[in-house]
Amino acid sequence: MAENDSNLEEELSFSPSNIWEDIEEEEHDEIFDFADDYSEFLTTAKTERKSVEEAEQILRENGFKSISEYGELEEGDKVYIINRNKSLAAAVIGKEDLTKGCNIVASHVDAPRLDLKARPLYEDKEASMALLQTHYYGGIKKYQWVNTPLAIHGKVVKEDGTPIEISIGEDPEDPIFVISDLLPHLAKKKQGERKMKKVIKGEELNILIAGIPIDDEDVESKLKTKVLKLLNDEYDIKEEDLTSAELEIVPAGKTRDVGLDRSMVGGYAHDDRVCAYTSLRALLDIDSPEKTSLIIFFDKEEIGSEGNTGANSEFVDSIYSNLLKKYKDRYTMQDRREMLDNSKALSGDVSPGINPSFKGVHDLQNAATFGKGIVITKFTGSGGKYSANDAHAEYVALVRRIFNENNILWQTSELGKVDEGGGGTVAKFLANLNIDVVDIGIPLLGMHSPFEVISKADLYHLFKGYRSFLEVE
Ligand code: MN
Ligand code: MN
Repeated sequence: MAENDSNLEEELSFSPSNIWEDIEEEEHDEIFDFADDYSEFLTTAKTERKSVEEAEQILRENGFKSISEYGELEEGDKVYIINRNKSLAAAVIGKEDLTKGCNIVASHVDAPRLDLKARPLYEDKEASMALLQTHYYGGIKKYQWVNTPLAIHGKVVKEDGTPIEISIGEDPEDPIFVISDLLPHLAKKKQGERKMKKVIKGEELNILIAGIPIDDEDVESKLKTKVLKLLNDEYDIKEEDLTSAELEIVPAGKTRDVGLDRSMVGGYAHDDRVCAYTSLRALLDIDSPEKTSLIIFFDKEEIGSEGNTGANSEFVDSIYSNLLKKYKDRYTMQDRREMLDNSKALSGDVSPGINPSFKGVHDLQNAATFGKGIVITKFTGSGGKYSANDAHAEYVALVRRIFNENNILWQTSELGKVDEGGGGTVAKFLANLNIDVVDIGIPLLGMHSPFEVISKADLYHLFKGYRSFLEVE
C-alpha cells in the first residue's frame, strides 16, 4: 500500500527537481563552459553602454548586420538595431511573414550603480582630500557600496560633440576608488541610531579621488585643481565638460566562481545582464526559424523603464516599423498592428532566490531555489498584484509546454510573501502593446548589491529555455 501511495504522489504532485542531481557528465561540462563565457561577458559589460557594445561585437562576429546595412530584409537575415548606444534589438527573420509576429525575449542591461553628479568634484580642506559627489541610480542598499573597490566607466561628451571614453579601475594596474565608511569605534551614536536606509545617506556617498595638492602658490583649491589638471592632461577635458557626461561608479574587478564546487557565479549586475547574455547566446544558435526571433535589451528598467531607451517608450514600435519598412515595399498600419498582436514575449529578469539566513520573507512553497532551473513568475507587482502584468493561464501553459518538451527544468516563484514588498519588470510595457508576456528568469542572491550570486545550472537552463522559446513555431 505504501508503495502505491508514493507512486500516486509522484504522479499527481509537482515538485521542481534539482538540475545537479542525476546530471549527465556532458551537461555538467556544458554548464561550466557556458558559465565561463558568461563570466567573461559580465566582467567586461560593466555598464549599459558596454553591454550594448559587447553585444554588438558578438553579433557582428556571428554574421549579424546593422539594419542600415540592409537594402531589404528577407528570411534568414540576421539584423540588429541600436538605440542611442543604450538599448538594442537583434533578430533572425523567420520563414513566416513578419505580420505573423515575433518570438521575443526582452531584458534590461542597466543596473543599480552610483552616477556622478553634474558638478561632482570638490575638495575637503580639513580632510585634505579631493572627492566626487554621486547620485545613486536604482534601488540600492546604500551601506553596501562603502569600503569596496570601485571603478569609473562612462563617457564625457565635449561641447563640440567629441566623445571621451573613461574606464578606470578594472586593469589590475589601475587605481580604484572607494567610499569610506565610519569606523565602528566612533559609529555608536552617529550611525547606531539610524534606520537601515540611512545607515549611509545619499549625500554621504562621496568617492575618494586624490590626495596630493597642486604645487602652485597662486591656486586656491590645490587638491581640486590637481584633479582637474590630471583629467585635462589625460583626457583633454575641463570641469564644465563633466556637466555633459555619464560617468558610472560600479564595483571594480572580475566576475568570480563562488563555492568550493564552483557551482555559482558571483559578480556585479547579473540583474539583468544574465538574461541579456543568455538571450543573445540563444539567438546566435538560431538559423531559420518559422517566426522571427527577436531579442531586446532595454535601458532604464531600474528607474521605472522611463526615457526613450526604456521599455515604456516607443522603441519597440520603432523596431517593428523599421523591420517592416525593409521587409515589405509598402506596409500599412494594420501590418504593424498584426505584427504586434501576433507576437509573444518572455520578459527576462531575475527573481530572488531563497536566502538561507532570511527565509522569513519568502513563502517557501512559492519561492525560487538555486539549482532548480528557470523561474516562471506569473506576476510581479506589490500588494494585491498592483502594477503587475499577471500573465494569462493560457500563455503560461504554452511556455510550460515549451520548457517541458525541451527537457528544461523550471520552477515558479512569487517575489516574496504576500504584502512583504514588491517590484516590477518590463513585462507590463510589452503587455501594453497587446503582446502576451510572462516573466522568465533565474534565482539570484544579493540582488542590487555590488556582488550578486547565481547558480551555473540555472544559468545554462535559462539559455536553453530562451532558445527553445525563440525558435518555437
Ligand atoms: Mn533590478
Ligand atoms: Mn531586473
